[in-house]
This record gives sequence, structure tokens and C-alpha cells, in this order.
Amino acid sequence: MTSQSPDIKISTEPPIRAPSAVPIDDAVLPFEVGSLDLRGRLTRLGPALDDVLTKHDYPPAVGKLLGEAMVLTALLGSSLKFDGRFILQTQTDGPVSFMIVDYRGADRMRAYARYDASRLEAGQDSGALLGKGHLAMTIDQGADMSRYQGLVALEGGNLEDAAHEYFLRSEQIPTKVRLAVGEEWRGGEGDGPKHRWRAGGMLLQFLPKAPERLRQADLHPGDAPEGAVTDAVEEDDAWVEGQSLISTVEDVELIDPDLSGERLLYRLFHERGVRVFPPLPLRAECSCSREAVSGMLKSFAPGDRADMVKDGKVVVTCEFCSSVYEFTPDEAGVE
Ligand SMILES: [Zn+2]
Repeated sequence: MTSQSPDIKISTEPPIRAPSAVPIDDAVLPFEVGSLDLRGRLTRLGPALDDVLTKHDYPPAVGKLLGEAMVLTALLGSSLKFDGRFILQTQTDGPVSFMIVDYRGADRMRAYARYDASRLEAGQDSGALLGKGHLAMTIDQGADMSRYQGLVALEGGNLEDAAHEYFLRSEQIPTKVRLAVGEEWRGGEGDGPKHRWRAGGMLLQFLPKAPERLRQADLHPGDAPEGAVTDAVEEDDAWVEGQSLISTVEDVELIDPDLSGERLLYRLFHERGVRVFPPLPLRAECSCSREAVSGMLKSFAPGDRADMVKDGKVVVTCEFCSSVYEFTPDEAGVE
């Protein structure tokens, strides 16, 4: 079976393209379901995610939340056509008070979370960990281009809710997002059981040519009095079907290391025909450098620089990747 048709053909026979030829982990797979005017991206994060979360040794609940933020960033940042930068940040009053995921191209994604360990409790979901505050998404296209920032209030909901709110208010493109993060346990020989982090996510958008088909129901007004009349908007049938299909995706399917992205997309959309585009590989690599840290040190006032000298040296640790940079007072510009 050599297929040039837009449908992915997967039978009970092994697929024609060897799965090993396709990077299943740490990649974004763009796809389209032409008959429903749907476009989307599916991402799988394996070693890239595990590396970031393990380096910081985050408590499981914090790691899971930061993983969700990384998946969302991979889904959104990978849509940028230019050599720009996408930054996702949360600032909230919950146990995880600050998160940042910095995407500078597919080969440079880094992430960091600040949390108060004394406020972590068993069973807290993402919404409880975040608390109230806001989510900011910044697109920076470089020095001569405008910087765009979208802000969404976080009010006890999770990052999927916030993403939906963002697309409804800012982009006005009907969008659904699914995010999942889990720990995979591997049998441990010698050193006991080991686990590694995995994550997956999907973004689905309805992009019809005719703008009148874009109407979408407003988010449910959670605090509206009972019996209040909400706008009854009839959504386009294709989008109703798209939402219903993505809502069937389970977390385990998104993170399953044995289920390729193509198979998952086929499973969801085979009746409508899905076209999958070449994957975009992702890498989690910090963009810090000795030069950049040195430049940052020189931007401080001389008095502040002098205060940083401890035991005859200035030590700076990168919060993203835990790299340690040491400078002599002379190098750090201390007089
Ligand atoms: Zn770094």
C-alpha cells in the first residue's frame, strides 16, 4: 500500500512507514481534517520534559503543572512562522506562584516554576495549585517588531480553561486544547524502580473560509444566577463534531509511549480523513551563556555587584537549567 491520498491508511498490518523513522517524542505533529475545516497540532514530550523536571527535582504535583505549561507552550510556540520567541508566564496566589516557559525556536525551550512547598497538599488539582492571578502569553518577534502580549485571568481553573479563554477573547478562533502529563514507571534493575515524565497535548482549531461559520458559544458564565438566559449560539456542525472528537481523547492516549501520534490522529479522525504533516522536532535546551550572565551582572549598580561577592567570587545560578557560573570580582566588574 503506497498511499498518496490525504488519508492516513493504517490497517492491522504494520504501517508502511516504520514508526522508528518518526520521532514520537519531543515533536509537534501538525495535521488537518480538510472535510471539517479543522487544523491542529499534536505534541509528545518525553526526554525534553523529563530533563527539565528532573533537573529541578520538582515535587510531582509541581512537575505535572509545569509539564502542562510546557505542552501548551509547545503547541502555541510551534505555530510561529518567524524566528521569534514565545513566552508563557503565570503569576498567581496559589502554592505554585510563578511559572515561565520560554520558547525560542523548536530547539530551545526552557521552563521554571516557583512554589511554596509548605502549601502543597495531596490531591490539589492544577486549578488549586495555581490559585488566582493571570496567565500572560508574549510573542516577541525581535528588536524592530512589535511585541504582543495576551493576558487571561486565572480564577481557579486549569491551563486548558485559560487557553480556551485566550482563544475566545484574543484570537476569536474556535479552539480546543487538551493537555496531559504523567509519570511512566519502568522496571528498575539494580537501582530500584525508575520513573520518567511524559506529556502530550493536542490543539484543534476550526478555520472555515466563510467567517459567518466562526460563531461560537460563549464560555459558560459560572457565576450567573440560576435560570439566567445565556446567548444561545448555534455552532457550526463541523466544529461541533470537532469538539466532540477531541473530547474523547484520553490522557493515557496523549502520553502513551507505544501509541504513535499518527495512529492517535487516525484513531480520532479516520472517518473524516486526516492529513498529517512532517513533524517538527523539539528540544529543551537553555539559552543561558557565560556571556549573557556576565552582561546581566554588568547591568547592576556597582554597589549591588559588590554585595554579590561571597568568599571572593560571584556565583550565579541559572534558574532554568541550574547551570552555575562563577566570576572573579574583577570579571564581575566589582571595583
Ligand atoms: Zn540556563
